[in-house]
Amino acid sequence: MTESALGTTLVIANAHVVTMDGDRSEYSDGYVVISGNKIVDVGSGKAPAYPNAHVIDGSGCLITPGLVNTHHHLYQWITRGLAADSTLFEWLTTLYPVWAGIDADAVHVAATGGLTWLAKTGCTTTTDHHYVVPRDAGDVFEAEITAAAQVGLRFHPCRGSMDLGQSSGGLPPDHVVEKLDDILTGTQSVIDRWHDPNTGSMLQIAVAPCSPFSVTESLLRESATLARENGVRMHTHLAETLDEERFCRELFGCTPVEYMERVGWVGPDVWYAHAVHLDDAGIETMARTGTAAAHCPTSNARLGAGIARAADLVNGGVTVGLGVDGAASNEACSLIEESRHALLFARAKGGPQTMTVRKALELGTIGGARVLGRDSEIGSIEVGKLADLAVWKLDTVAHAGITDPVAALVLGSTPPLKLLLVNGRIVVADGRVTTVDEDVVASDVARAHRDLLGKA
Ligand code: ZN
Repeated sequence: MTESALGTTLVIANAHVVTMDGDRSEYSDGYVVISGNKIVDVGSGKAPAYPNAHVIDGSGCLITPGLVNTHHHLYQWITRGLAADSTLFEWLTTLYPVWAGIDADAVHVAATGGLTWLAKTGCTTTTDHHYVVPRDAGDVFEAEITAAAQVGLRFHPCRGSMDLGQSSGGLPPDHVVEKLDDILTGTQSVIDRWHDPNTGSMLQIAVAPCSPFSVTESLLRESATLARENGVRMHTHLAETLDEERFCRELFGCTPVEYMERVGWVGPDVWYAHAVHLDDAGIETMARTGTAAAHCPTSNARLGAGIARAADLVNGGVTVGLGVDGAASNEACSLIEESRHALLFARAKGGPQTMTVRKALELGTIGGARVLGRDSEIGSIEVGKLADLAVWKLDTVAHAGITDPVAALVLGSTPPLKLLLVNGRIVVADGRVTTVDEDVVASDVARAHRDLLGKA
């Protein structure tokens, strides 16, 4: 099966369909019909006959909306496995000198690797938070944007930044931070060049200073103004560690969320990565202002940072999506594993009733779409929505015989994909990514990893 097999109409029949629509409809023997880049029919039983349609037998498969990844650092795909047993601050100080050596070519290779793996594990839309922008490195944003177009994922790159170097009391070394004016000019130019606000957009930019301990208050305030003038979303790391909590209390005399509210960084156009160490007031502020969270359970556990109060956030009315976070703190970077880990950690912390398997899948699909403001277009399988969906093969030895297909997907190991469609285009077929040569991607990544470590 190749991309050209798509034709004008594609029918996937005889599958279990989880729609994530408003009623959370499921069809145990269902079908989905796609025409061009849109879903045109979904239902139960025998699929209606469509003239000249290409029909795929989905027996033994589960169809879900494509997964939506709300936090990532794709460049880290070539810096995996370093500082494997360190705290976040030790890990950052080990990795900053390595990251300082990246350039556009390295970012392109890393992004291609990370995006290829996301596709292979069911993700159709991803963000990327890129905040290392060394001088003379070439255009790192163009590098990752061309990689996303090539692999074929819907992409929300966040123009990240740092302007608080070590000599000014920040964490990053001075040579990886930028000047405030350069950041604002650079961010505006990324928006002007790439941001597509239209329905069906494959590319939207967000504005994303790195975190309270690596950026100045002026950068936060001015980048919020810039984002809102341009009608783009705002993203940053927040409340990831207790060290950050202490840093904010010492410097600003308040919690990280209170600091964010003070500098204009709350609202329905804002989402925070992590949001681990929140008090009740912080959760209430996020809910009241519509500020969303990218819950990254694997990365938080890998770095021993703590675990977000995911169930409290959801029950408190906060919009929550899932994120793999960067590959240097989550070597797996499979979004479906984030659903499993969100459920496991929530239950380990709050008991067996804390999160259902369907809620865990919801966070990774329609939840993520809400975080990115795209829930009218993606995140569920409904007539008129964009054709972003994953067809998981549950009839192999790993999953065959598990009673509930959603439990098989969320609690079992990551299943192979029969098909992944992004905007109606086939990106994965029979477990292989069709848009790039996976073996070439793997050897390019290994070489870029060696070269980067050699430089450092
Ligand atoms: Zn991160």
